[in-house]
Parts: sequence; structure tokens; C-alpha cells
Amino acid sequence: MILLTYFDKLPCKELKLTRNNVFERDKNHCQYCGKSFPREELNLDHVIPRDHGGKTTWENIVCSCIRCNSRKANRLPHEAHMRLIRKPVRPKWRPVISLVLGNRERERWKDFLDLAYWNVELDE
Ligand SMILES: [Zn+2]
Repeated sequence: MILLTYFDKLPCKELKLTRNNVFERDKNHCQYCGKSFPREELNLDHVIPRDHGGKTTWENIVCSCIRCNSRKANRLPHEAHMRLIRKPVRPKWRPVISLVLGNRERERWKDFLDLAYWNVELDE
């Protein structure tokens, strides 16, 4: 069982830039076409591609559907004639994730890997 709670009044350390947190910030909406998708059908997109010097930061990473992602490819949004529906910003909330695992669940390796996939901090 995963309990996910948001506190917005806590003085905080920086919110980690993870796939999960980006999707949470963007509410599973592609930031180019504005439609919502299941997380499995979304990618993370570097607004300014890494080859153009774009950084892996809250301000440069958005949620994007696979279609928009492949359409944009390695270009700047305006080069692909695409616009973000809103400017990406660092979220104000801070998630507190408590993970409660029983003995049986502990053996469910796949769940663990899924969790790691969604919550790992993204590399530069
Ligand atoms: Zn899209």
C-alpha cells in the first residue's frame, strides 16, 4: 500500500524531479496537445532538447504524449510548430511517500521495480 499525501505548508527541501512528480504536476496531461492519457502512454519531454543545451529541470521537462513527443522529436517547440499549454514550473507541493509493505508484498519484486521506475530521480 502506498500512501501519498501532499503538504503545501511545510517548509521544504526541494521536491525531487521524478517521472512520477512531473506527471503529477502536469496531471497526466500532454503539455502540447492538452489531452490526458494513462501514464503508460506519456513520455517526458525536454522542452529545449538536450542537444540544444536544455537541462533536466522542472522548468524544462514536461509530460508529453507519445504522438506529440515523436512529432516534436529533437526540435524546439516553435521549430515543430508546437506550443506548450502552460509554462512548466517547479511545483509548490511536496509529496510525502510512505511505503508500507507486508511480508507477502515484499516479495512482489515487480511492484518494487515499478515503484523505482516511477520515483527515481532523473539524471542530468
Ligand atoms: Zn500530445
